[in-house]
Amino acid sequence: MTDAPAARLAAFLEQLEDARRARGVTLIVVTKRHPAALVRELAEAGHRDFGESRHPESRDKAEELAGLGLTWHFVGQLQRNKARQVARYADVLHSIDSTELVEVLEGGDERPLRDALVQVNLTDDPGRGGVAPADVDALAERVAASSALRLRGVMAVAPLGEEPGRAFERLARHAERVRAIDPDARWISAGMSADWREALEHGATHLRIGTAITGNRPADG
Ligand SMILES: *Cc1c(COP(=O)(O)O)cnc(C)c1O
Repeated sequence: MTDAPAARLAAFLEQLEDARRARGVTLIVVTKRHPAALVRELAEAGHRDFGESRHPESRDKAEELAGLGLTWHFVGQLQRNKARQVARYADVLHSIDSTELVEVLEGGDERPLRDALVQVNLTDDPGRGGVAPADVDALAERVAASSALRLRGVMAVAPLGEEPGRAFERLARHAERVRAIDPDARWISAGMSADWREALEHGATHLRIGTAITGNRPADG
């Protein structure tokens, strides 16, 4: 029986075991649209890293589950007018995609440096999330110099209609250049339920897995 999320989590971790031993891959369970109860169930099974993409839903869950010692990864698009609120509860911001966004975050307060990833747009559509490939290095330098963020690496979503391995290969090249800017910025956040094997082949250090562990997301609403 593997239909309970905790059982699927255990099975998934088993598949990842070799990769994790080789280079410490972090599994982020993406729980958007699922209730806090599901996060709690996986936390009770020992899991700590969770991904969310929609404020304020993400804030409500982080508040409800405060005290469990969870690490919250914000993986959705960061709107400038909400970014400072997100930075209050999110430990890792995966979707830094403009210098303006960095400036907004520097206008904030209080909390220590947030871990941050530069999101790379691997599609031809400038309307999709992420910074254009040509602007990745400049943005990474800006994040590395930021008073609010700690540059950790890169993040991307594989485009539809392209073999994901090819897209992740491009991402790996960006990751290498970002590492040249800051040798500690070694994270590659890539790979979802459908393409995590290809992401691992191309060096992913952080997988963002939703449905393969949580089951289907409840309908929007
Ligand atoms: C929802 C989401 C995921 C997880 O997707 P699945 O296909 O359910 O594994 C990963 N990354 C981002 C940015 C997401 O929005």
